[in-house]
Amino acid sequence: MSPTRTSDVLVVGGGIIGLVTAWRAAQRGLATAVVDPEPGGGAARVAAGMLAAVTELHYGEETLLGLNLASARRYPGFAAELTELTGHDLGYRACGTLAVALDADDRAHLRELHALQQRSGLDSQWLSGRDCRRLEPMLAPGVRGGLRVDGDHQIDPRRLAAALVTACERAGVTVHRARAERLVVAGDRATGVVTADGTELGAGQVVLAAGSLSGRLAGVPADVLPPVRPVKGQVVRLTMPARHGPFLNRTVRAVVRGSHVYLVPRENGELVIGATSEEMGWDTTVTAGGVYELLRDAHELVPGITELPLTETLAGLRPASPDNAPLLGPTELEGLLLATGHHRNGVLLTPVTGDAMAEALTTGALPEVARPFTPRRFGAAVRTEQPA
Ligand SMILES: Cc1cc2nc3c(=O)[nH]c(=O)nc-3n(C[C@H](O)[C@H](O)[C@H](O)COP(=O)(O)OP(=O)(O)OC[C@H]3O[C@@H](n4cnc5c(N)ncnc54)[C@H](O)[C@@H]3O)c2cc1C
Repeated sequence: MSPTRTSDVLVVGGGIIGLVTAWRAAQRGLATAVVDPEPGGGAARVAAGMLAAVTELHYGEETLLGLNLASARRYPGFAAELTELTGHDLGYRACGTLAVALDADDRAHLRELHALQQRSGLDSQWLSGRDCRRLEPMLAPGVRGGLRVDGDHQIDPRRLAAALVTACERAGVTVHRARAERLVVAGDRATGVVTADGTELGAGQVVLAAGSLSGRLAGVPADVLPPVRPVKGQVVRLTMPARHGPFLNRTVRAVVRGSHVYLVPRENGELVIGATSEEMGWDTTVTAGGVYELLRDAHELVPGITELPLTETLAGLRPASPDNAPLLGPTELEGLLLATGHHRNGVLLTPVTGDAMAEALTTGALPEVARPFTPRRFGAAVRTEQPA
């Protein structure tokens, strides 16, 4: 084994969640390192980048709503700080979202969502089909009504990841381009990892932020291993014409025959259409069926998409937890923290995750807003399920 190289904090995984954690930790004066064979890659290469605290609200996820809103509020300042530090334009657009219904079932579903949003004190406005088309003239004539949510914005996740890599470099974070093979546990605490080439990287604290692979790191004791699984999402990217004004002004989304579909128009002319949601293990094959369903459903919403050049098809993996909420902060194993399980909201949750993890790494405790997301909530359930 190669000699140990040490830091205060070692982050396993350099996706957006690991990178924001490392950046914020370094800003607080901690000597920080990241280990990842491909830092800045991960699910952010595929993600649409909706910052959709309000339109992504689901029954039973009201606790998560608080964290999502806290992160959405941080976004303007967070994006401005990153851009100023790195010179990267993040493609942040405060453009709002329109969720529409195409038939009576979709309309009833959207009405229920509206009622839930109102009960939760959120800002959304019911519109007739005609008003929806007035806002977005490319919408299909059959649109039966919709919800206007002016607070749900977007960012380009690839640019966000690239900016976070630069921010980490500028803050003095050491980046090891390697795969962590195994967690090292000495006595009763985590002390580092061993990489695929046998190098030992030692650290005062280890943060496991390996996305959908977070539950697969060898050496992590079974009772603290995060219950994270991959949920596959396929997307397609089209290019919108520059002429004749904007193709779409804001994110447009709907539930079509039970499947969620959204169209995210970026400032650079890219139109991202997503996303499937499939339990297929670590498979990232783009399938004809996945692309067909996305284009079919998007075409029902915005018929004019068939004229646009199709530039990219991709599939990625959302790191999902049993309650669809992230696992943040210290575990029962001294020296091991988690920052994973962000599922379909990882881009939205990047600012609040960075702040919460930096706080946990410097003080040992999560800030109030992040406390419900302690990994210990699953540990407790596992322990009570065990026979006496
Ligand atoms: C199709 C799709 C659409 C999405 N749309 C949105 C959206 O609109 N809005 C939103 O907020 N979120 C969205 N998401 C979710 C978001 O992309 C994820 O939640 C987020 O990117 C997860 O980031 P992460 O850093 O936790 O994990 P990942 O991005 O998976 O990064 C994990 C990193 O860990 C590294 N790694 C893994 N194992 C090891 C190891 N053993 N050693 C070292 N490194 C390792 C990997 O190389 C990778 O770089 C979407 C996701 C998908 C797939």
